Amino acid sequence: MFEQFELDSELLASIKKIGYKKPTSIQELVIPEAMTGKDVLASAPTGTGKTASFLLPAAQHLLDYPRNKPGFPRVLILTPTRELALQIGEDSEKLTELCNVKTGVITGGVNYGSHNDILNSTTDILVATPGRLLEYIENEQFDTRDIEILILDEADRMLDMGFRETINRIVAESRWRKQTMLFSATLEGAGVLKFAKEVLSEPVFLES
Ligand code: AMP
Repeated sequence: MFEQFELDSELLASIKKIGYKKPTSIQELVIPEAMTGKDVLASAPTGTGKTASFLLPAAQHLLDYPRNKPGFPRVLILTPTRELALQIGEDSEKLTELCNVKTGVITGGVNYGSHNDILNSTTDILVATPGRLLEYIENEQFDTRDIEILILDEADRMLDMGFRETINRIVAESRWRKQTMLFSATLEGAGVLKFAKEVLSEPVFLES
């Protein structure tokens, strides 16, 4: 039952509306730990329900600590591909449909002007592919100073795709964050564990 988690009624109502009856095993593991504010290292392939396992605690954090002035995104989710970014963005919109939380998606492969709205107005949860986001950071169109939660989704794939240096730069820029979560289908090979050690601080390790 999702009621076992300390989620606001708006989030529980959205979950019901989407049709999720009970949490998946990765959600059972990740949601309570993530809600304590600890860093999380989770091994969870696509299809396990990992997206809601990081979106729900992140959304709850936004509801627990409402912002008192307009600003830059407070939750940043990095994911390897445009398709994944759009999917996570859609899930985020659905899960926060009944809350005052705004989601934006920034990816490559679309023209630069199409992100003006996200860059110029208050977005709470930003889902992005690393390359285009770093361009906006370097052009000073995007500021990472308000990021409180950083989520690295499909970290193994991002490393395989050669994003390591780009992610390192974004992670370094997000220096005021309070919590980092890293999700990876596997923690073997490609230096994922080494990378996790560099970006996480005393993480809890969770495996679905
Ligand atoms: P993900 O691994 O996050 O990509 O999720 C895989 C699929 O499972 C998506 O279609 C989700 O909408 C769905 N899903 C996530 N959590 C649940 C749940 N608790 N119950 C049923 N379906 C879910």
